[in-house]
Order: sequence, then C-alpha cells, then structure tokens
Amino acid sequence: MNHKQALEQNIFKVISQSAKELNLESYVIGGFVRDYILKRGTAKDVDVVAVGDGIKLAKQVAKNLPNKPKVQVFKTYGTAMLRYNDIEIEFVGARKESYDENSRNPAVENGTLADDQNRRDFTINALALNLGEDHFGDLLDPFDGIKDLENKIIRTPLDPDITYSDDPLRMMRAIRFATQLGFKIEDESLKAITRNNQRIEIITNERIVVELNKILESNTPSTGFLLLEKTGLLLYILPELMALKGIDEKEGQRHKDNFYHTLEVVDNIAKNTDNLWLRWAALLHDIGKAPTKKFSKKVGWTFHGHEFEGSKMVYHLFKRLKMPLNDKMKFVQKMVLMSSRPIVLAQDIVTDSAVRRLIFDAGDYVDDLMTLCEADITTKNPKKFQKYHNNFKIVREKIIEVEARDHVRNFQPPVSGEEIMETFNLKPSREIGIIKEAIKEAILEGEIPNEHEAAYNLMLKKGEKLGLKATK
Ligand code: ATP
Repeated sequence: MNHKQALEQNIFKVISQSAKELNLESYVIGGFVRDYILKRGTAKDVDVVAVGDGIKLAKQVAKNLPNKPKVQVFKTYGTAMLRYNDIEIEFVGARKESYDENSRNPAVENGTLADDQNRRDFTINALALNLGEDHFGDLLDPFDGIKDLENKIIRTPLDPDITYSDDPLRMMRAIRFATQLGFKIEDESLKAITRNNQRIEIITNERIVVELNKILESNTPSTGFLLLEKTGLLLYILPELMALKGIDEKEGQRHKDNFYHTLEVVDNIAKNTDNLWLRWAALLHDIGKAPTKKFSKKVGWTFHGHEFEGSKMVYHLFKRLKMPLNDKMKFVQKMVLMSSRPIVLAQDIVTDSAVRRLIFDAGDYVDDLMTLCEADITTKNPKKFQKYHNNFKIVREKIIEVEARDHVRNFQPPVSGEEIMETFNLKPSREIGIIKEAIKEAILEGEIPNEHEAAYNLMLKKGEKLGLKATK
C-alpha cells in the first residue's frame, strides 16, 4: 500500500533527498503514521528512522532546509531533534535492543529497519512509511498493524510477556492508548500485563504520571482506570483508589461502591472541562472515604471528615508520585476539601449568606467547584438527578447575583488594619484581628453590606465593646 499523501509536506522531500545524499535508507515510523491512518489530524511529532547514523541525517536535513534550524543532539540516546515550522522531527538510527532484568534501558546495537520495528511497543506503532525516492510513501507493516487499526486492537509485535517485562512502561502505554483511541487490548496482552504487573516498580513515578495524565485527558478516562484495576496495576500506582472499591453490608445497610462512583464522576467531568487538575480533583475527591468509613446502628454508614482527610491525602499522593507540590496541588486539595459544600447547599433552601460563604471560601475557584459537584451527581433516579441539577442551577445563578452585589470573591476588608490602628491609636495587637473578623462575619452573614461606611460604624461599635477609645 502507498500513502504518499501523508508525506505531502516539503519537509519529507528534504529528508528523502538528504538521506539519498548520505546513501541511507530512511523511514517515518510510529505515531505519525498511526495517527495519519486513523485520521486523527496531522501529528506535530514526526519520528524518522535512518538505517545508519540518525544524527548525521538530522544534520544533513538541517543543512538542506532554507532556515537552517538548530539540531539538538541527545548523545546518550543516539537521537537528534530539529524543529521545522511547527513540526518537531526526531531522528534515530535503526537499532536492535537487548534488555537487562533490572532496567528499562536496553543495550543497543545498530540494526535494520526490521530490527527497529521489532523493538516497537505495539503493532500499530510499528508502521513505517518509506522515504526512499523510488518507494516514497510505501507502507511497511510487518505485524499486520493496519488490521489491528481497523479492528481497534492493541497488540505487541513479539511475545507480550517479553515485551512488557523488558520495558514495563509499555503496560501503562497499552492502557493509555486503549483509553485514548477507544481500542481493546488483545487478551494475551492483557493477561501478560496482569502477570507482569509487579514489574511496574522499576518505572519512575514521573513516567507513570505522564501516562496517567494522558488517561485523564482522554474523553472517557474510566476505560483506563478500569484496565489499571483489572490488571492489578492500580494497586501499585494509586492504592488510595483501590481502597474505595467494594461494598460493605452491615445489618442490611450498604454504602455505594466509591471506586465505580469516582470513575463515573471523572467521566462526567471530562465532558465539561479540559482542566487536567480539575479532572485530578474528580479522581481524588472521595479518597478520604476509605480511612473515615464507620458504621453505627443509629445512622448507618458515615464518612465524617472525609473531605479534610482526603485533602491531606492529596499532598502525600502528589509527593509520592513526584507530582508538582505547587499551586496545582493546592487547587486539587481545595477542591477535595470543599467537594461537599455545594451539595449541602443544593439540598436546602439556598440562603444568600450560605452562598456568600461559599464564594468567600472558594474564591476564584467557585466555578470549578460547581463543575465538580455537578459531575458528582451519579444517581440513577431520574427524578433526583433532575432535582439536583436544577438546584445547582439555582446555586450558580445565586452566585452570580450575590457576587455582583457583595463582591466577596476576592474579599478585601472594607476597613483595613491600618485604619483600625489609626482610629483607636493602637499598636499591632489582638484587638485588630478581633475587629476585622467581626466585620468579615457581619458581611458574610448579611448583617451589613460590604461597604466602608457600614464597616466603619461596626468597627466603632466593636472597639467600644473592647474598651477602646476612638481618637478621631
Ligand atoms: P503519542 O505522541 O500520542 O504519545 P507516539 O506513538 O508518537 O504517541 P511516542 O512516545 O512519541 O508516542 O513514541 C514514538 C514511537 O516510539 C511510538 O510510536 C513507538 O513506535 C515507539 N515507542 C515509544 N515508547 C516506546 C516503548 N516504551 N517501547 C517500545 N517502543 C516505544
């Protein structure tokens, strides 16, 4: 089969010409070819294999391009990269690999195109297009990758037990591709992943998180998490989620399975936001439920304080997985901590003061919090489903109305600490904090408007009660 149309851009002609000048064979391989055939849009990453010196080819290509781009050489990997327009092209010499048990970094020697295709993770990632002048665009598909693309199958070119054991990151990649592309992992492969799951321990957390993020960023993240669970990988990666699995029954009372519930929430939120960190928040919003679960005859199953516990667990989980411990982590913590607040609101009559407090506490993230809570509605009772959504609609409207009037989103006290000090001729002291807190509370409760004059008068009153004398 020929796929010349995939190689219409000028850059491919330049690579072809450059390879000819060096008397090398060259091929486009991997994701670019796969995504072209799947019609997933033109990929911005192109992998080129040269049978011979890949770095030399990259330099020759750069020389032949009008803008003479810089070539970045990665000596340890024997690869080179250059950017042309907005495409990133990576060059590598065809190689043969052999693995050692304790590392996913193989011993490497020069090889043929066939050797190079053999070392690829999946049949659909081993497809190559010839860049040679006489065979330009010819497809090389030694493992029936095209058939697997048609049948939506993830399959390894060689024995899956060896493929996964050699480089256990491929287990994560298999599950990630299955999730992103909506493919099925072939049975033998799935069994091999399950048999080799413990090997994931030699993979760095950073690499694992790259794949987890890609799973979370796909349209139906639950596919990936169900596969991670089924293969036993989840226990190594996110034991906090595994702990949510299962239903306990005591005295005829059951609670819901919080693992499957969580996955529904993640799929729901994926329809409404592309914010990766909000998707993480959805994934982790209930993790505090496992350690806080209790049963009492009176009230049945409870998870008191699970939001607080969960937000603490977020920190430990991020730290363990070497994820950023920055504002992203704090955002996820905040979402988990506040994840039940709007729900309580939506069950009751929504008062202005409750809405003010919600805006005050959630700050700029109040919209994200509402998105999370709406995704959290997984009831199968259509009447309740409708009712909760309607209530949240009311809460959202109230948020806009209250915020327009009271401006509590990024609350700035209408009377500053300095003004209090000046008024009562005070040095920094406890009283200032007490007065500021009283003003804030009065505003949130709706006892006074969020305005200077009202706050000033309250300050005078509170000061008097504390035995302070106004000096002006
Ligand atoms: P995406 O860009 O969506 O991640 P991709 O297939 O381009 O998809 P890359 O990680 O850029 O993924 O890898 C490029 C190619 O290198 C793959 O298509 C595959 O042929 C090969 N490859 C990458 N990682 C591995 C691995 N761990 N084991 C074997 N082959 C791999």
